[in-house]
Amino acid sequence: MNAAPGRTHGLSKSRLVAWLQCPRRLWLEVNRPDLRLDDLAIRRRFAVGHQVGALARDLEAGGVLVGHEDDLAAALEDTRRALDRLPGKPLFEPAFQHDGLLVRIDLLLPEDERGHRHHLVEVKSTASVKGYHLPDAAIQAWVASQAGLHLSRVSIAHLDTGFIYPGNGDYRGLFRRTDITASIVPLLERVPDWAAQARVVLAGEQPDIQPGDQCDTPFECPFRHYCCPPAPEYPVTLLPDRRGKAMARALAAEGHEDLRDVPAGRIVDPLQQRIHDATRNGRAVLDPEAAAQIGAVGWPRYYLDFETIAFAVPLWAGTRPYQALPFQWSCHTESAPGQLRHADFLDTTGQAPMRRFAERLLATLGKTGAIIVYSAYERRILDGLARAFPDLADPLRAVADRLFDLLPLTRAHYYHPAMKGSWSIKAVLPTVAPDLDYGALGEVQDGTSAQAAYAEIIDPATPAERRASLTDALLDYCRLDTLALVRLAWFLEEGGRNRTGN
Ligand code: SF4
Repeated sequence: MNAAPGRTHGLSKSRLVAWLQCPRRLWLEVNRPDLRLDDLAIRRRFAVGHQVGALARDLEAGGVLVGHEDDLAAALEDTRRALDRLPGKPLFEPAFQHDGLLVRIDLLLPEDERGHRHHLVEVKSTASVKGYHLPDAAIQAWVASQAGLHLSRVSIAHLDTGFIYPGNGDYRGLFRRTDITASIVPLLERVPDWAAQARVVLAGEQPDIQPGDQCDTPFECPFRHYCCPPAPEYPVTLLPDRRGKAMARALAAEGHEDLRDVPAGRIVDPLQQRIHDATRNGRAVLDPEAAAQIGAVGWPRYYLDFETIAFAVPLWAGTRPYQALPFQWSCHTESAPGQLRHADFLDTTGQAPMRRFAERLLATLGKTGAIIVYSAYERRILDGLARAFPDLADPLRAVADRLFDLLPLTRAHYYHPAMKGSWSIKAVLPTVAPDLDYGALGEVQDGTSAQAAYAEIIDPATPAERRASLTDALLDYCRLDTLALVRLAWFLEEGGRNRTGN
């Protein structure tokens, strides 16, 4: 696909940032926006960014918002007028342009009453300053300075995860400002060169750039599905964790793409070797030690899973930004071999659910019996609840003492080629219980969509019918999570036999 001949392009900061990630991405953003695929995670990140930006403005008293999102000329004119007529006022989203490069600044704060010097603040929804914030801020600062603004300093306002929300809409203290003036100095002089290079890209044909690390740095590129060729069914990159990734790079450098083509003996790490052998042979491996360890767990057994949500902007008093807050659990109880009953909890009131979550959980789990989970996450959440509710701390810690984590056991003793290097329950389940299928669930099929569904359910603007259907979807999803644990335990205990039952 070629660029339209003779077409010229204005450059916004976001386009230049796209070029910094990958010149091909910039070209596609401009010429083939139809190919862009914004998944749920990307959409949620944008929504959080807007929410955080609006809150930062609310906290800056007496500011003036320069609107005209879609009218550059009007935004530039309003910015100029505001700087002339309201020199001592903070400005939100003022627009500046230099040499065809356009920026909108989150917060522009006057440093004196006459507005001779300004403090440029970029607002981010992260919990700290990230490396990729620096070129972003350098572009803003360079354009604003070239447009005639005297900047005394440049800061990133990010969320302070130590902030505890006192409630009643009082978010003073939510943001921490970090001065990055010195850090961006070396970048400022590079901005015009970046812009020139980006324009060369836009004037040319689609850059022939191969997918690589840039496709996920700093974020997953929305054109991945377009650029990345279908991988072999068993690529060397399926080797898990950091050591596996290092081995995959070494194998790729040796010309291996498909794990099945790697000769025996080339891989020596025991875990990688197990994956390699199973993949080459096309057969699962199951160590009888798994059955022995699960067999030692008596009855009753409780199979437990939590769902949590982490709000960038705390919603409930006493909570912090990005604190993992439990709102739902599912529990299958196996009172005797094969005898199951199910219980669950999901608070959709919009009120803080953590206390009721803990109380209902304690009432369900009884005093004895192993509680089977599939990660260390449930233990961390129980610890947090024990700290939050001191009167429940002893029983919650007693529950934590009964946890039996099936993940390390499975990882150590079981692998099926179809798991493709992953021991997530969603990767394992089809190999141990093919009759159960996350793909057959409704709108909620993973943790990200579970969080999105919960956020929508407790949004007062959500219609009742939609709330009801999302509630059902969440309940089905979490129920399948614990039924999957039941079936995995049975499978391992019975030496790989697939026993059904719900
Ligand atoms: S997927 Fe990778 S190669 Fe393609 S545009 Fe995005 S960053 Fe560039």
